[in-house]
Amino acid sequence: MLNSAGSGGNTRGFAGFAAIVMVLLASLFAACPAFAQLESIEDYPDVIDARVTATPQRARLIIDLSGPTEFAIVSLDKPNRIAIDVKAFELKILAPADVAGKGIVTAYTVEMAEKGRARTLLTLAQPAQVQQAYILDAVADQPARLVVDIITATPQEFATKVASDLAASLANQGAAPATASTDPGTHTPITATRPLVVLDPGHGGVDNGASAPNGTHEKDITLAFALQLQKVLIDSGRFDVALTREDDTYLSLNERVDLARQNKADIFISLHADSFQDEQIRGASVYTRDENATDVLDKVLADGENRYDIVAGFSVPQATPAVMDILVDLMRREMRKSSFLAAEAIVHQLEPSVALRRFPVRQADFFVLQAPDVPSVLVELGFLSNASDIANLQQSDWRDRVVNALARGIADYFDSTQKAAAATQ
Ligand code: ZN
Repeated sequence: MLNSAGSGGNTRGFAGFAAIVMVLLASLFAACPAFAQLESIEDYPDVIDARVTATPQRARLIIDLSGPTEFAIVSLDKPNRIAIDVKAFELKILAPADVAGKGIVTAYTVEMAEKGRARTLLTLAQPAQVQQAYILDAVADQPARLVVDIITATPQEFATKVASDLAASLANQGAAPATASTDPGTHTPITATRPLVVLDPGHGGVDNGASAPNGTHEKDITLAFALQLQKVLIDSGRFDVALTREDDTYLSLNERVDLARQNKADIFISLHADSFQDEQIRGASVYTRDENATDVLDKVLADGENRYDIVAGFSVPQATPAVMDILVDLMRREMRKSSFLAAEAIVHQLEPSVALRRFPVRQADFFVLQAPDVPSVLVELGFLSNASDIANLQQSDWRDRVVNALARGIADYFDSTQKAAAATQ
């Protein structure tokens, strides 16, 4: 169980995330048996060309390919877009031409979203939906193609798809489906929705974490900081705060992440005071997860069962585990952006208060920061391998300063995200 303090916060329902990325339409995963053996990236075809035609009623995207491939489609709002990913080795086009005609698609981009995945993003002038999407094999002088036909949709259709798609995507990752906040009738007053901050005191139980020469353990330092930060945040009246552990309990990293996700945390902050081999290194720093180190999460996600029940009415001959989830990828990108903003806000407040490491906003592949739907940062308060840090970490007035700076940074982060959310209303 998550130990939650602060009352009345149960109605929050994921508003923070929803404000950042509202996701529309269905995840579509088409795997054609004829090329289900696209197992290595070298086998993927190149994207040769892409073009879009549009009228006020419909639009068509054609992607020319050097061979057939697998694709997936999702839609997003704020702004309204449709994203189409294809498994591809390389982009052979430099810049796509302008949209031909004037209508429901106003612009588009084509880029490699990551190795093996080319993404086309269509900017919509209004709510729209995919009518059909299919791969054509090469014939005579025509290359293989992906054809995506798009027609107008009502705002209600759009919103329904947003909700079902988001729910399905989150269910696929083992998280509880989000409550859709698109129905204006169910909006709760802003005063009733406090963001949930989940604090994660590192280590615990059999896992002491780092230890100082005098026998002080990291697990005890992180717990003391977390309990005090919880109190300061709750006293501010702005936040609900929960701890992944409130005593000397062992929790796996997965359990910590799951607690944040299942409780729909608005931010997850892991607190540590680790050791470095180089005992000169000292000072506080804040980590976000390395943008390029996605393999652990990808593996976890790939193991997830029950992928993609929703296929928007398209037939899916067989769902291959290799097929990629655009939605998860887009969410992860948004979360990384938010995590980085949170790290910057926290560091900005720590700066005048305590000694920081050089380049205090850092990236690393911390497994505990893997949640694709909860902004997550890891605060290294200092290092138990450095004598000055050891002295600081055990001083209550130093702890007061750090805790107050962390609380200010968290408040600043939510100030800026709420402003951004208000601007898109
Ligand atoms: Zn640690």
